[in-house]
Amino acid sequence: MITHSNLEQALKFYFGYDNFRPGQRQIIEIALENRDMLVVMPTGGGKSLCFQLPALVKKGITVVVSPLIALMQDQVDALRKNGIAATFLNSSLNSYKVRSREQAILEGKIRLLYVAPERLMSERFLPFLDLVHHQVGVSSFAIDEAHCVSEWGHDFRPEYRQLRSLRSRFNNVPVLALTATATDRVRADIIEQLGLKQPNIHIASFNRENLYYEVRPKTKNSYAELLELVRENDSSTIIYCLTRKQVDELTLKLQHDKVLALAYHAGLNDEERSTNQTRFIRDDVRVMVATVAFGMGINKPDVRLVIHYNLPRNIESYYQESGRAGRDGEQSRCTLFLSFGDVKTIEWSINQKTDEQEQKIARQQLRQTIDYAESTLCRRTIQLGYFGEQFDGNCGNCDNCRYPKPTQDWTVEAMKFLSCIARTKEKFGMNHIIDILRGGKTEKIKQYDHEQLSTYGIGKDRTADEWKMLGRCLLQQRLLEQGTDGYFVLKLNAASWEIMRRQRQVAIAVPVVQKASIKETSIN
Ligand code: ADP
Ligand code: ZN
Repeated sequence: MITHSNLEQALKFYFGYDNFRPGQRQIIEIALENRDMLVVMPTGGGKSLCFQLPALVKKGITVVVSPLIALMQDQVDALRKNGIAATFLNSSLNSYKVRSREQAILEGKIRLLYVAPERLMSERFLPFLDLVHHQVGVSSFAIDEAHCVSEWGHDFRPEYRQLRSLRSRFNNVPVLALTATATDRVRADIIEQLGLKQPNIHIASFNRENLYYEVRPKTKNSYAELLELVRENDSSTIIYCLTRKQVDELTLKLQHDKVLALAYHAGLNDEERSTNQTRFIRDDVRVMVATVAFGMGINKPDVRLVIHYNLPRNIESYYQESGRAGRDGEQSRCTLFLSFGDVKTIEWSINQKTDEQEQKIARQQLRQTIDYAESTLCRRTIQLGYFGEQFDGNCGNCDNCRYPKPTQDWTVEAMKFLSCIARTKEKFGMNHIIDILRGGKTEKIKQYDHEQLSTYGIGKDRTADEWKMLGRCLLQQRLLEQGTDGYFVLKLNAASWEIMRRQRQVAIAVPVVQKASIKETSIN
């Protein structure tokens, strides 16, 4: 029987750590009860330990499903360095190696086996796994990057779908799904698609306290600012750009300015990519300029600075990409440069999409990203709100909290706005609500008889843009919700009712015309 103090000893013995990170112990205790689990924890939270430690204290072998060969290799190397019997099987191995590893597995010499999903589910491998289960026992399946099973995630991989059959084939072996992607939709999808049985769900806070978030307008001086940030940083930096061309150009520019920088994007061949990555991880070079192709599964704990030189695709990607900073818990900086030119580029690429629903979602995501970048609210409040986590602001570790802009009390306006949503039974989107408030004469208003509402025309003293800004602020602060099904219907939540009951104040920042300022300060 494993007691708590034993767990701590095991942690020290196998990994050399003195303490568990938040949540780890709890998760491990439940994993040891052989229950199915879904663990949602931000990148860097220490998910791997949650299946690695149980694998070592339980009998048998733990099978880890991991989508990337590079990731597998890194984890296995790290484990072996700690003297832990781990191995992987993937397409990079010759048949001789495969056979000798399989042999070691069957002899019970291996505690953790990493495999790619397509290999695991292959016709040749499953019978082998049956044999392993029969001889040494499979103690658990750990499905890393479990969001890959969901089309709603940011990295859908069809081969993950087949993993479901593990549940029936090995029905007494617990499945532990892990991901850093937390939206409700993806969570539900993981449980459904993997067929988890009454899983224990552990959702850690997504707050990364050690990251300083800031947004700067992209101007003629941005490159000089970037250079200064990079030079100030005596540890590693990742700079994200939108396109390969931008990556190459910026890399050259930095090299010209005597900064040791390397590029990483899908246009380089495998060898160049892996050399550059290795050199970055080994601290040969401090700066990696990259497209978003770089980073998934990269475990470099001491990245101190992540710059987005272009606008990220959505808030979730931004969270993930910027989250590659400070994985060791040390104070690190995440800087985003906002340019109107990027907005145009992204809009253009959205217009190229043929699927209407996809377009709609992409537009909404872009809107949210711009709102985030333009906002005067605590950046954490917005990011965490995106993941459904309420955060009261004043984090003291973002530009808006450190250098707050003056705010105005808009509680009365908020009450009008929210009452209007309540009166129309939470069935409409922002534009219609604003039309009602401003006493509009639209077809829709006539059709629904909304001229009869007590809130009709009570908001004529504000412009439509001001109402929109309020609406967006309410959404960002999670004082109001919006449907994610592409119709963007506004829905009230508990906080909305508190405002209407005068139990909660609404403060919004004064500068109203922010769009224009982007245009002015933008060079591209
Ligand atoms: P995730 O998979 O959640 O992104 P990892 O499992 O890669 O995170 O862990 C992130 C980093 O934290 C790694 O460098 C890991 O060695 C370290 N780590 C994990 N757990 C602990 C702990 N209890 N104490 C100290 N460091 C830890
Ligand atoms: Zn803040």
